Amino acid sequence: MYLTLVAVGFSALILLAYTEKYMAPGLFRTLLYNALALFLAGNILMYIGIRCPKCKATLGYHIVFSAGKAYQCPRCRVNFDEEMS
Ligand SMILES: [Zn+2]
Repeated sequence: MYLTLVAVGFSALILLAYTEKYMAPGLFRTLLYNALALFLAGNILMYIGIRCPKCKATLGYHIVFSAGKAYQCPRCRVNFDEEMS
């Protein structure tokens, strides 16, 4: 869910980069700030929102950088398949 927010914000940024010359500067700036805010909010929420169920270590970026294949907490080594299901 957090990843969706990041993906939407990122897509909006790419879309804006391509449509910049067709838009009024004021409108473009408003949309750009909104897309950036969405992207940053998604990143922050993902970072602080995903935590280890046992030691409460923040796992957001660990999971993202391991492409969702994280099955063990990097801190306390708890197995997520057992703890989260
Ligand atoms: Zn842990």
